[in-house]
Amino acid sequence: MSNSILSARMTDAHRELGERARAYFTPRWLEQWRAAPGGPLRKDVWPELAERGFLGVSLPREHGGQGLGLLGALVVGEALAQVGDSGVALGMHVHNEVAGEWLTSAADPTLRERYLPKLLSGELLACQCDTDPSAQEPTTAVRDGDRLILRGQKKFVVNGAQADLCFVSARLDGQPAVVVVEKDAPGVRVTHAYDKLGTRSIDSALLEFDDVEVPADRVVARSGVSQLMRWNRVMSRMRFLIAVDAWLIHRMLLTHIVDYSTNRELGGRALSAWPINAHALARARADQELMEAGITDGYLRLTEGGSTVPEIAELKWFCVERATELASLSTDLEGGAGYMWDSVALRAHAQLRGLRMSGGSQTTMLTIANHSMACRAELGDQDRAGVA
Ligand SMILES: Cc1cc2nc3c(=O)[nH]c(=O)nc-3n(C[C@H](O)[C@H](O)[C@H](O)COP(=O)(O)OP(=O)(O)OC[C@H]3O[C@@H](n4cnc5c(N)ncnc54)[C@H](O)[C@@H]3O)c2cc1C
Repeated sequence: MSNSILSARMTDAHRELGERARAYFTPRWLEQWRAAPGGPLRKDVWPELAERGFLGVSLPREHGGQGLGLLGALVVGEALAQVGDSGVALGMHVHNEVAGEWLTSAADPTLRERYLPKLLSGELLACQCDTDPSAQEPTTAVRDGDRLILRGQKKFVVNGAQADLCFVSARLDGQPAVVVVEKDAPGVRVTHAYDKLGTRSIDSALLEFDDVEVPADRVVARSGVSQLMRWNRVMSRMRFLIAVDAWLIHRMLLTHIVDYSTNRELGGRALSAWPINAHALARARADQELMEAGITDGYLRLTEGGSTVPEIAELKWFCVERATELASLSTDLEGGAGYMWDSVALRAHAQLRGLRMSGGSQTTMLTIANHSMACRAELGDQDRAGVA
């Protein structure tokens, strides 16, 4: 992290982690751990990641983490960007930041004690199951004595095929809740493992919960204002890390395409020197600086306080949108080579298509930002009416 505000917050432990992670997470490393060429990571990579000190980096020491906070997650994320496929980063965000956060902040310490040590040792792999087939087909949990009966389907779940532990969002007695379900419970099935364009280094699966019985104490979040705040904290953290992933792709692409188009001569001058391209590249440079400023602001909001939900949704929208634009421009500038599968720009484009939907679609990010603007305007009207 060359950014002056973030780098000023780095300790020796962050710097040491960064050096180790950059040396470890290389394209060659990814190829060694794939289940098949071009496929997802093997499951036995997770205990290896724990042994190397890459799990639970951000989590508090009192819960078995390394206490390096969100900055620790950014340092690992920056190293992961080197592998050239955003799947591993998504899988790590879900395991470390989403599942890790649900368990460290769980009101019931027995859930934390039961699952967190195994998550941190890589013995258990986690997934977050949110996406229902449609609004008309929600996943439901119904109380039956000291058990819950869970029923529904979840689409496109990262880590879903290999995970041992599912954090399932469901309507519990009609209210939103998150329930921890062990994957080997009777009635849990992986009904499809998707093939996909990008993020191929992690699996994505369709999961079915067919009247699954879960002990009633496996609820990590339920309805209520404080739970809504927890949910927002978890989702904002995930979206922030996705925004950072997009920013890192943009940074890599900008270096690549400036270099490529400066060295490619067409019509008697460098491709980058033709005004239409020079303007587009200048705009991408400005976008890179704006993304970095937004990421710094988002980091300070998430770690030092302030409103986060609309700001992080806007940040995710902006970073992913602008990175997608640059990927599209770069494939054009590469000419026919930009259509060939070994094109740097085309591969980046494939990752970004996944980041557009992951953590909520780009449209959803704008909807969140829009609701928040309407809400601020309404509060402003009330304030003015109160003053008048
Ligand atoms: C790489 C990747 C990783 C993912 N990881 C996970 C995961 O780990 N766990 C999980 O549960 N899910 C995951 N998802 C699923 C993802 O969260 C959803 O795909 C996303 O929220 C959109 O939901 P949907 O696919 O059902 O699309 P739909 O809800 O059918 O939406 C389709 C399109 O319509 C737009 N739209 C929706 N409503 C409106 C409206 N009112 N007006 C205008 N446009 C609208 C949406 O923005 C979207 O662009 C992942 C997806 C991808 C691609």
